Amino acid sequence: MKVLLASSEAIPFAKTGGLADVAGSLVNELRNINVNARLIMPMYRGIKDKFAPDYTGYDITVTLGNKKYTSSLFVREKSLIFVECDEFFDRSGIYGTSQAHYDDNDFRFIFFSKAVLEACKILGFMPDVIHCNDWHTALIPLYIKTIYKEDFTRTASLLTIHNLGYQGIFPESTMTITGLGPEMFDPKLMEFYGQVNLLKAGITSADAISTVSPNYAREILDEGMGFGLDGVLKDRAGDISGIINGIDYSEWDPSKDEAIPIHYSRTDMSGKKKCKNYLIKKCGFKTGKLPLLSVVGRLASQKGLDILLDVADEIFSFGVNLVVLGTGDKDIAQRLEELSEKYTHNVSINLLFDEDFAHLIYAGSDMILIPSRYEPCGLSQMIGMRYGTVPIARSTGGLKDSIKDFNAMEKKGTGFLFRDYRASSLEECIKRALCVYINNEIWEKLVMNCMKEDFSWQVSAKKYLTLYRKLLKKVRA
Ligand code: ADP
Repeated sequence: MKVLLASSEAIPFAKTGGLADVAGSLVNELRNINVNARLIMPMYRGIKDKFAPDYTGYDITVTLGNKKYTSSLFVREKSLIFVECDEFFDRSGIYGTSQAHYDDNDFRFIFFSKAVLEACKILGFMPDVIHCNDWHTALIPLYIKTIYKEDFTRTASLLTIHNLGYQGIFPESTMTITGLGPEMFDPKLMEFYGQVNLLKAGITSADAISTVSPNYAREILDEGMGFGLDGVLKDRAGDISGIINGIDYSEWDPSKDEAIPIHYSRTDMSGKKKCKNYLIKKCGFKTGKLPLLSVVGRLASQKGLDILLDVADEIFSFGVNLVVLGTGDKDIAQRLEELSEKYTHNVSINLLFDEDFAHLIYAGSDMILIPSRYEPCGLSQMIGMRYGTVPIARSTGGLKDSIKDFNAMEKKGTGFLFRDYRASSLEECIKRALCVYINNEIWEKLVMNCMKEDFSWQVSAKKYLTLYRKLLKKVRA
């Protein structure tokens, strides 16, 4: 089975969020189960210097509108293919700067989508399945049914939606860049309220669609969660499935993690206390005796920090410390900074992307807060549990699939869940967690429950393989 994963980001090369974790880990895990899997991604600034991929000797030409772009292909460890085009990818950011998205993102990712198919042809790697991810590569399924039809007669396409909130919507003029005929600008394909919607192109033309948790696969069929695409998704309901993400156990392992000061494991938890002390010092908290709550993630309205901020005063009245690591929305960032001015000794706000610091926070906190409005899968709850840090989360998407609400009487469960997207519900949930926290014995049992969970990629990679096989049967029947 030959599989090509096409992604706009992948660890360890370029990351803004969970998509990178998934793409980078899945390709390795598929290879571990003997799938001939490869990953293709853009060669962003810094990749060439840091990872020294080899030039394949092959160049491709991609036409966008009436302009031709030449691009060189690089490989690393045979399975990783990089598409070089400095005009598009030699920039400081992946999708934009901290101020704004790049205004030629349609050019950049339509270029990349075509480059993926040109690369397959020139490298002689004809995949059985092309596995596309999010809007950046969602045109590929349509291309292999139209412009590239003759070249990919036996290739099936899978589109994984990591987040329906990002769809790649551009003005109608973007159609000329795609090279597709005007008949494709149709509500049944990629037209969306007078604009081009690249994710919609993938949803309507991929042989199968998946999302990153079974619960999210159900939720997106609902008008309230479908971001305007619930109708087309419903039309394809029979082809949609949900496979929960895993986390990379070689990267996320408190017994080996090089980014944390002291290692620990289920059999010796003393290191976790030391990590907490280290984190407390780094954050400059006045006292380390309080429960330490954390947030690691994008500062986007999706992540529910508004309801956290709304009940901040109540939460600090319970006596807690809070560390936040995140980048994104300026208004959320500003409200967080105001909070840290008010609670100087109990709040540490870190508006940066720092992977090592994220590792330390997962290891050193007691609880991780994920009050998301919606959450396709979510990784921070799984990473938290792996590090014995208990999640407090809204019961939505993959959070609902991966966290079991704790029952203190039975000592069963792995976290604390609340249902309604309301500040008061979050407050109640945090209160419930803090009541359990003061009972050492029960808390330790809860922490063990978390650490016993298995979030490794093995199970999910096998599910993808089953899906690829099913797809091939369908396409080649
Ligand atoms: P999303 O994909 O919606 O951003 P996920 O929970 O699926 O959210 O994945 C987020 C990933 O990015 C996690 O690995 C998390 O640790 C990491 N991450 C998010 N923000 C930061 C940050 N500011 N610094 C370091 N890592 C971060």
